[in-house]
Amino acid sequence: MSEQSVTMTLDEILALARDCLIANGCDDDNANAVASTVTAAERDGAASHGLFRLPGYVASLRSGKVDGAAKPVIEKLAPGVVRADGRGGFAPLALETGRQPLIDCARSQGIGALALTNIHHFAALWIEVEALAQNGLAAFAFTAYKPALAPAGSTQPLFGTNPMAFGWPRGEKPPMVFDQASAAMARGEIMIAARDGHELPAGVGVDKDGNETTDPNAILEGGAILPFGGYKGSAIAMMVELLVAGLIGQDFSFEAAVNDNNDGGPPRGGELMLAMDPAHFGDPDGWLRHTESFFERYYSLDGTRLPADRRYANRVQNIKTGVEVRTDLRDKIVALTN
Ligand code: NDP
Repeated sequence: MSEQSVTMTLDEILALARDCLIANGCDDDNANAVASTVTAAERDGAASHGLFRLPGYVASLRSGKVDGAAKPVIEKLAPGVVRADGRGGFAPLALETGRQPLIDCARSQGIGALALTNIHHFAALWIEVEALAQNGLAAFAFTAYKPALAPAGSTQPLFGTNPMAFGWPRGEKPPMVFDQASAAMARGEIMIAARDGHELPAGVGVDKDGNETTDPNAILEGGAILPFGGYKGSAIAMMVELLVAGLIGQDFSFEAAVNDNNDGGPPRGGELMLAMDPAHFGDPDGWLRHTESFFERYYSLDGTRLPADRRYANRVQNIKTGVEVRTDLRDKIVALTN
């Protein structure tokens, strides 16, 4: 244990998060769902979406923006389309509630979509696609945020950091999952760099005057993050906006910002998930063997690892040893609980 950190077991992290959420107005179901998400992030070494987010969750409970006792409502909109209306709550309970109906759609029809509406998403997306891939389904997830990202050609933010995640089932092996923001760097990472006084690599963002900068504060205070890969990342960020706002009737990032109270918590918006059952796509008996031969070839190349391998390695380690949590963060959460 270093001077500034404390080792916590995953059970302790779960309890710390759950108690804090309940103390601030969450019911048991919402507190458990959000706390599980926070704990999963800490377990896998994704600190920017773990306990670090809890003060933001609390802020939006305290400001009344998020309903900590929201009960998501499931509705079938078409044979392959399910809606989980989060009723103004945090995303994790709506995701849990919508998961089985989405799985049922994909299993019965080959493909299913889950439109999550009126949710507040503040977490990593791999959590939800991994859960579907563990059920034998290929899955996508997309969500938006508030304007943070400048479209190609501009230095003014319009898109959210707009992550997309994809999961692929691997039978008995852990699924392949990638989960990436459309931004050159996720906002949470930039916030952590600002908190820790670290400079950013070049190409991450611009300041309020549109000049490239490596200062995280200059990006966060009126500047903009750049898309990854220039116009290609910009196009993906736009696609995410269209899927999670245009398609399902939720706010675009720029609209979410207008409607947000800026309490530091997640704005209200939508998420889209797609799930596909390989049993219905023409190679029901061979797809797993075939794709495993692909992964074998992939791993045989120098320097490769699959997306999610880093997280899975962290998971094995952290379940055994617990997680180093900054003492100031732990103390802040304890203070928010009392
Ligand atoms: P990273 O750039 O850290 O990683 C993106 C993906 O690339 C991960 O799946 C990662 O796997 C994989 N990867 C990294 N290095 C390699 C490598 N050498 N070989 C193969 N794969 C690799 O993620 P981002 O910073 O873009 O996003 C961070 C998180 O922020 C995401 O979880 C995202 O969902 C979340 N986010 C949430 C938002 C919200 O509003 N809810 C908004 C924006 C982002 P691995 O994890 O194993 O390293």
